[in-house]
Amino acid sequence: MKPEDEILRTLKEAGFKAYIVGGAVRDRLLGLEIKDIDIATDATPEEVIELFDKTVPTGLKYGTVEVLKDGRSFQVTTFRTDGSYSDGRRPDEVRFGTSFKDDLSRRDFTVNALALDEDGKLIDYYGGLDDLKARIIRAIGSPEKRFREDGLRKWRAVRFACTKNFKIEDKTFKAITTDPGTDQISIERITAELLGILSSENPDYGFDLIFKSGLLSSLLGRLGVEESISPPELSGAKTLEARLALLTKTYGISFLEGLRLPKRTVKTARLLCELMACESEKKFNKTARKLSKSVIIDNLSLFDKEKRDWAKKLAQSPAFERKELAVDGNDLLALGLTGKLSDVFEDLLDYVTEHPGQNTKPALRNFILEKRENGTYIT
Ligand code: ATP
Ligand code: MG
Repeated sequence: MKPEDEILRTLKEAGFKAYIVGGAVRDRLLGLEIKDIDIATDATPEEVIELFDKTVPTGLKYGTVEVLKDGRSFQVTTFRTDGSYSDGRRPDEVRFGTSFKDDLSRRDFTVNALALDEDGKLIDYYGGLDDLKARIIRAIGSPEKRFREDGLRKWRAVRFACTKNFKIEDKTFKAITTDPGTDQISIERITAELLGILSSENPDYGFDLIFKSGLLSSLLGRLGVEESISPPELSGAKTLEARLALLTKTYGISFLEGLRLPKRTVKTARLLCELMACESEKKFNKTARKLSKSVIIDNLSLFDKEKRDWAKKLAQSPAFERKELAVDGNDLLALGLTGKLSDVFEDLLDYVTEHPGQNTKPALRNFILEKRENGTYIT
C-alpha cells in the first residue's frame, strides 16, 4: 500500500475523516509527477502525533504535522478556515473545528481545492475538475477579495498557469491587473514563484502574464528599477542562470541583486550577462574564466556566432584554468618577473587557447621571454 493511503487508513480506522488534497490531487489528474502530498483531516495535531510513530510538529499554529513514512514526509493538516487577513499576507487567526467543505473553500484556486478520499473517490465542491479539464486557473470566490487576503496568490496564479500550461480565467486575471501590488509580500516569496516561472518549459508565457498584469512592473518598482520595458525572450536560453542573465541585461543589475537569490546564482548570471556585452576576445576570455567550462558550454545559446566561436575555442583549450598551464608561479618568478603575475597568466591562457600545441614549459618560457624583451613584462 502507498504510504499516503496507509496514513489515510490509519486516520479512518481511528474514527477521523482524511483526504488527500491540493497539488497532489491536481497533479495526479494531470498525469504529472507528484512532489509533496498534503492530507487534510478532522483529527487535531495532538491526535495525529498520537497516531503515528514518526512526526514533526512543523506548523502547529496552522494545524500542520509532518508524518514521516517510508523515508518520505507528508503534511497532515487539521481542517481549518482562515480568519480575517489584515496584512494581505497571512490570516490574523485560523479557526479549527470546521467542515471539510469550508477547509477547501480557503484554498486559492478551484484546481487546488480537489480532494481524494481513501477509496480514490474525487471530492470536488468548487468545480475544480471542469477547470482542470479546461486548463483554467480560477480563484475560489471573489478574486479581488482572495487576492486582497493574500497577495502572493497573484503570483501563484501566474506560476501555476505557466508551469501547467493553463489559462487564467478572465475575472481572476482582471483582479490581478486591477491591483498588481504585492507590497506586503516578502521578496523571497515572490522570488520563489518567479523561479518557478523561470524554471518552466515556457517562461515566456509566464513573463507575458506578469508583464500584461502589471505584476512585473510592481516587482521592478520594489527593486528600484524604473523602466518597465517588455521582457526579453527567454525560451531560447535553457538554464535558469542564462534566463536571469537575459533579464539582467534588460532590467539591470539591481533587478538581479534585489531578488535575494543564492550568491552563486547571482554570480553566474552576472558573469553571463557581462559575457554577452564583451567586445574583445581577450575580455571575453578573462570573464569566461571566472566561470567553469561547463557553465560556458551549457549557455552557448546566449551568444552570437562570434562569441560562440570564442567560447568553444576556450572550452577546447588544453588550459582553461591557470593550474592546467605547463608553467606555474614559481616558473614565472624564476624568469625574473615581478609585475602583476595574474596578467601574465591571463596572457599565457590566451596564448595556449590560440596555440593548443604550445602548452609546454619551453614554449611558454619562450613566450614570456619574448614579451619580456618587448618590455611588456616588468622584471
Ligand atoms: P506545488 O507544491 O506544486 O507548488 P501545491 O498546490 O501543492 O503546488 P502548495 O504551496 O504546496 O501548492 O500548497 C498546497 C495547497 O495549499 C494548495 O494546493 C492550496 O490548496 C493551498 N494553498 C497553498 N498556498 C495557498 C495560498 N497562498 N492561499 C490559499 N491556498 C493556498
Ligand atoms: Mg505542494
